[in-house]
Amino acid sequence: MSISENIQKIKKQLSKNITVIPVSKRQPYELIQEAYDGGQRIFGENKVQELREKHEKFPLDIEWHMIGHLQTNKVKYIAPFINLIHSVDSLKLLKEINKRAKQNERIINCLLQIYIAKEKSKFGLSFEEIENLLSSDDFNNLENIKIIGLMGMATNTPEKEKIKIEFDKLKNAFEKIKSSFFKNDKNFKELSMGMSGDYKIAIESGSTMVRVGSLIFGKRNPH
Ligand SMILES: *Cc1c(COP(=O)(O)O)cnc(C)c1O
Repeated sequence: MSISENIQKIKKQLSKNITVIPVSKRQPYELIQEAYDGGQRIFGENKVQELREKHEKFPLDIEWHMIGHLQTNKVKYIAPFINLIHSVDSLKLLKEINKRAKQNERIINCLLQIYIAKEKSKFGLSFEEIENLLSSDDFNNLENIKIIGLMGMATNTPEKEKIKIEFDKLKNAFEKIKSSFFKNDKNFKELSMGMSGDYKIAIESGSTMVRVGSLIFGKRNPH
């Protein structure tokens, strides 16, 4: 099947209000071009350098999403064009995004990355850390960013029940944060969860954005 057919196959399984984000990281340009020619306009990337190169190479009507860990000192490179940053994991990073958005006369949409696993994971904020961040005066002074939801990942495991429990927890955290901090904010509506191996489970738990790479493009190039 072609890349476009792979994308269409996934889109057909999902209701219209769910966004499929083809993850094009470490994929050959031809395959991305093929998806573009088939009408795809949103792509996800996880590295700043690669994202910049692709933004320069491909047409300007693509919406680029940053889905990987973002270092504060690299925000300036993507601030002029990035459409959505899924992986905001600190107030410091959010302040930098705000600063660079302001310089570019933009408002940048962001998701807060949350983890629900018991062990502290490498990236992301705990539920309590998100509450603290959203309650802080510093946060309330940021005028050039908009928080439009949360992003989360499930443990990489073949155990479907375990994944389902984790996605349900993420959804629950999303609802709580929405009702506490974004009750009258209709922009706060996105829950980015689910990848190639678990997007169907994520949808059952209320995901609104699935980030699908290898199922669409095939195996990635090694680093
Ligand atoms: C690479 C990546 C994906 C896509 O992974 P696949 O298993 O290829 O679908 C999704 N989310 C993030 C954050 C990623 O880094």
